Amino acid sequence: MGRRWYLVGAAVAAMTAAAWGAWRLGPARGAAVRREPGLSVLLITIDTLRADALGAYGRASAETAWIDRLAQGGVRFERAHAHNVVTLPSHANLLSGRYPLGHGVRDNSGFRFPEGEPTLATLLKARGYRTAAFVSSFALDSRFGLDRGFDVYDDRLGGGETRTSFLMPERRGTETVEAAAAWIAAQGEAPVFCFVHLNEPHFPYNPPEPFASRFPREPYAGEVAAADAALQPLLKPILEAGKGGRTLVVMTADHGESLGEHGEQTHAIFAYEATLRVPLILFAPRLLGSAVVQTPVRHVDVAPTVLDLLGLPPPPEVPGRSLLPLIAGASPPAAASYFEALSSSLNQGWAPLRGVIDGELKYVDLPLPELYDLAADPGETRNLAAARPGELERLRGLLSRLRKGERDLARGPEEASTVERLRALGYAAASEPVPAKERYTEDDDPKRLIDLDARAGEVLRLYDAGDLEGALALNRENIRRRPDMPLAYLHQAYLLRARGDLEGAVEAAGKAVSLRPRDEESAALLAVYLTQAGRPREAVDLLEPYAKASRPDLDLLTARGMGLSALGRREEALATFARARQADPSNPMVLVNIGTVHLLAGELARARESFEEALRIDASLARAHNSLGVIAAREGRLDEAIDRWKQAARLDPGDYQTLFNLGSVLRRRGRETEARPYLESYLRAAPAALEGADVAKVRAWLGEPGRGRR
Ligand SMILES: [Zn+2]
Repeated sequence: MGRRWYLVGAAVAAMTAAAWGAWRLGPARGAAVRREPGLSVLLITIDTLRADALGAYGRASAETAWIDRLAQGGVRFERAHAHNVVTLPSHANLLSGRYPLGHGVRDNSGFRFPEGEPTLATLLKARGYRTAAFVSSFALDSRFGLDRGFDVYDDRLGGGETRTSFLMPERRGTETVEAAAAWIAAQGEAPVFCFVHLNEPHFPYNPPEPFASRFPREPYAGEVAAADAALQPLLKPILEAGKGGRTLVVMTADHGESLGEHGEQTHAIFAYEATLRVPLILFAPRLLGSAVVQTPVRHVDVAPTVLDLLGLPPPPEVPGRSLLPLIAGASPPAAASYFEALSSSLNQGWAPLRGVIDGELKYVDLPLPELYDLAADPGETRNLAAARPGELERLRGLLSRLRKGERDLARGPEEASTVERLRALGYAAASEPVPAKERYTEDDDPKRLIDLDARAGEVLRLYDAGDLEGALALNRENIRRRPDMPLAYLHQAYLLRARGDLEGAVEAAGKAVSLRPRDEESAALLAVYLTQAGRPREAVDLLEPYAKASRPDLDLLTARGMGLSALGRREEALATFARARQADPSNPMVLVNIGTVHLLAGELARARESFEEALRIDASLARAHNSLGVIAAREGRLDEAIDRWKQAARLDPGDYQTLFNLGSVLRRRGRETEARPYLESYLRAAPAALEGADVAKVRAWLGEPGRGRR
């Protein structure tokens, strides 16, 4: 199931914005600022890191000693804001000094950073810097275009610790840092620009030990501590060098995390301070001294500041400005800060969220407009839109001036395999955007729709807990509330399929396809269900036009191959799977499908070859073990078959076909006691609608005829 919605396992206490109290106290202590050409630059971003999760920003229980020391010896900006609340656009802002309005990257999927647009990497490389990036999330994969200007762009994910590295959307911070530190060490005395991105605090929160034990009820805080500890090899030498160091460190986050505030669990939907406010620290003690700056600053200011400190001009015509005067104690008026959160609009058809922060005031432009006084109400709980109409109008005007010259929202279709990997990170990615509406009403306002998000999370939780009927009932409520939201139909299709209602699944998936006809993922899903419902001809016809595209998606080719195979068009099926293999040679599921075509045709030797090759890529593929068990059984080697099926059942305890194979062959061999638990698991896992005859048979074996299923 597209895992768009996650649950936050343990209740995480909402973090207080205690540090806010201080920001009115006036300008920072002035520091003498010097510039230094040829200084090395280390840009560190920690994904999903709330400012107030750090000790340096007032959280007493945080274990963030390395970052805290960096803040202590450097310049800490108390009020720094991002402009986006998802990873790719936010990093584009940081590296380019431009708003999303300027570079045009508005979401994690469907956008590419434009060629020819200068970034810190391209500008510093042109000045003779050696440049490298080490990123930890698929959201920053080089395919999205931020790799330009980097001599090395290391986006390899999934190291030795991950079981299925081919789909792993993130890499551990310790591994990313190790790669970065090795690269830096190899550059000798040459000036370097090194960008390091860690993904730890991003959902799901699974901190490694000892952090899991230290934060048993706050896994998010545990992840933050893990990220801090991971930075030690990079930060320790720089901190120890102190004023003798030759490296500027810039540490920030791409966005924060809601942790339940305003009804949002993670990030991407709203742009409240929980996700928009970020930490920002500059460390170069010999040049900047140490200070705390209370004046609001922005992500777009980072690139011009770095260049200024190196004695270089800013990129042409950027909205960002150098922060050096501010650090030196000048008090220029705070610059207005544009922000947006467009993911739900692009992917779910909700109203687009945009806004502006001007001094203490924050305006959120939505069908139900919002206005907050951040100084008096840092938690954004009192909407002043109705009480202060004059300010509302002024900020509305400011926002529309900021949007002058905005790049068209030119989003292209995204490949389904890219979408799938972004989904694994928890994003509501889709391969085709929902068309924009002429006019959005209050019913499209994310504030009115956030309960859908919570309910979808609950649907997933119920499904995972085995309450299929409860999950279905709740998902139906989402469809009733928002009948034009494609993802609810995809969930419906998945749940109905799990119940064994293939016709219902076909109907729901068909609805999703009709809402977004160009979406390859929905079409592939519908085709798979059509084939399983005994309607492979319709599946093959449905996919015909998609398959003619120059680079159809892997899922789409797979679905088509299954349909062709079911129609007995074996050679065409094999040709289709061969195309899928070309598209992604490292994908073992394609090999499993090729093996299945051979198996169905009785070509056991060729089938075995494919399954074994799949297992060489990923030894934990339950499907391949199950099929090798089937081959062994057909060839009369029942002990080998039993071993294979036991392995498959260990790897995927819910695969009812494996459970049936294993239980029935054990029983046939007279090993009834051993067979019983597998057969009981089979009864729990098998959808009665599809498995009626076998279910009745197994019940009779177990001596429980006529008993109703749970
Ligand atoms: Zn992010």
